Amino acid sequence: MGGHSPCASCKLLRRRCTKDCPFAPYFPADDPHKFAIVHKVFGASNISKMLQELPVHQRADAVSSLVYEANARVRDPVYGCVGAISYLQNQVSELQMQLAVAQAEIFCIQMQQDPMAMPTPQFDDDDEESFLLQHNLPQCLNFASSSSDVIQESFKKESPFGRDMVS
Ligand SMILES: [Zn+2]
Repeated sequence: MGGHSPCASCKLLRRRCTKDCPFAPYFPADDPHKFAIVHKVFGASNISKMLQELPVHQRADAVSSLVYEANARVRDPVYGCVGAISYLQNQVSELQMQLAVAQAEIFCIQMQQDPMAMPTPQFDDDDEESFLLQHNLPQCLNFASSSSDVIQESFKKESPFGRDMVS
């Protein structure tokens, strides 16, 4: 059992894996793909430089970020992980718009119920739709329904990435 098996990096680069190999803690021999992909995208010497510039306690996080970015870059050579980031940012702004529409809708209902008072978040037991129909609030309805169509439409868009983005 005395043999020291080389880490995934040294194996791929055909180097001797020394005791103080900078890659060994992060690229175990049983996961050769992990090093292969970051080597392909960033290059082994760049990875080594990046890791050596960081304090030891940040290196594991840096490696998982590099692996994630390399996978994204292979999947989407043009945008890389920026594609995933902007997809998620779009989702956040769509959800914020949906929230604003819902708040505006609540405000309209409250003003119709009691135009003189400041709005308070209280409803009776009628469900929202029948309340709106009974009280005939065309502006509120048009605003709310057209906006939520837009939102639902945009949520149907597929993610540019497959389901196995994060490994
Ligand atoms: Zn090594």
